[in-house]
Amino acid sequence: MSLKYTCPSCGTPLGYEGLCWKCRCEQDRNAALAWTPEQIAEKQQNLIQNIQRLKEMEDPELTDFWQLLSYQDAITPEIQRAALAAEVFWPCEIYYHAPADVRDGLIHALLSAEYSSAASNLMCCLAMQGDDKAMETLLELERNPRPWRKGLYVDPSSYAQIGGWTFDKEGRRTQLTFDTCYPMVKGASSEASPVRIGRARKDTCPHCGGRMADMLVLDGRDERLRFLGLNGILTATCCPSCVGFLKGPAFNRFTLDGGVEIFPSELFDEEEKMDCYVSPEEYKALTENPFVLGKSPVPLFYGCAREDVNTIGGFGNWVQDAEYTTCPQCGKPMKYLAQIQWDTVFDCAEGTLYVEFCPDCQIVSMQHQQT
Ligand SMILES: [Zn+2]
Ligand SMILES: [Zn+2]
Ligand SMILES: [Zn+2]
Repeated sequence: MSLKYTCPSCGTPLGYEGLCWKCRCEQDRNAALAWTPEQIAEKQQNLIQNIQRLKEMEDPELTDFWQLLSYQDAITPEIQRAALAAEVFWPCEIYYHAPADVRDGLIHALLSAEYSSAASNLMCCLAMQGDDKAMETLLELERNPRPWRKGLYVDPSSYAQIGGWTFDKEGRRTQLTFDTCYPMVKGASSEASPVRIGRARKDTCPHCGGRMADMLVLDGRDERLRFLGLNGILTATCCPSCVGFLKGPAFNRFTLDGGVEIFPSELFDEEEKMDCYVSPEEYKALTENPFVLGKSPVPLFYGCAREDVNTIGGFGNWVQDAEYTTCPQCGKPMKYLAQIQWDTVFDCAEGTLYVEFCPDCQIVSMQHQQT
């Protein structure tokens, strides 16, 4: 395909006339962020009336749903009640922190479920609702599995992770996500920021010989980042070329004064000799990216509607199911910290880098997913 056009907004060469996909995402998002209260009410009303179209993945309802949730935090109990009444159990995010009557409806449906697929969807919904009674129900189903459990790969406590929390055998609950979310936004050159994506490093990767990078450097002492409970600097370091080809996530220990100890990693295919596909130009693009921490918090699902936003806290737009990493030191599930969309920082990769950390052990993990 010849690239005879350029995006009128950012100048990227394109094979067609119009905006590039990233600029189009940005345009759609800015439009949704600017909705008036009347427009929001109209979309909410339409969603309530046509809620079954959501599970048929029809627009405008599906797009409206994600924009109401992600940019306006405007999924109301009325929408949740309508979804329950119409037995719409996808996307499960509809039920995030739904009121008690909706929760009880979900529990009733789950306890009456006969098939694995229905039980699976309902456990996701209940995970999103996420209160103590939701946990009691999932715990009870974990202790006393129903016949449909045989058709599923994981236990109810793993389903709870989709809602950003989990529980252990004794029924002790752990929160895996933060209830604050900040976006990374394009800043002016040399603008100070307590969060940086892609800082250059001198050391090289043992697998491909390319340069390692600090994919995330975050100073928890900034007022905006107090919610993380980090009284210093967190650094997440990996090889940007190999992180998607490792057996499991990349790990490192961090010290609050900015230190990093990289853990040894193994390639998924041990026979394979890795080439570094990050050229010096791409490495430069990565380490000179314009992103700085946004000034104000955004809704928790802000990073979930499209694949073009880097966020700190809140929920990630997991490509596959949410998969929280187990801390290699203490064995507890790690906390979800950030998502970095590769193609916002260079052109040679797609997919998302999810960053998690264990606050107790000061260990970071990075895992790559793509469609
Ligand atoms: Zn563009
Ligand atoms: Zn490498
Ligand atoms: Zn740990």
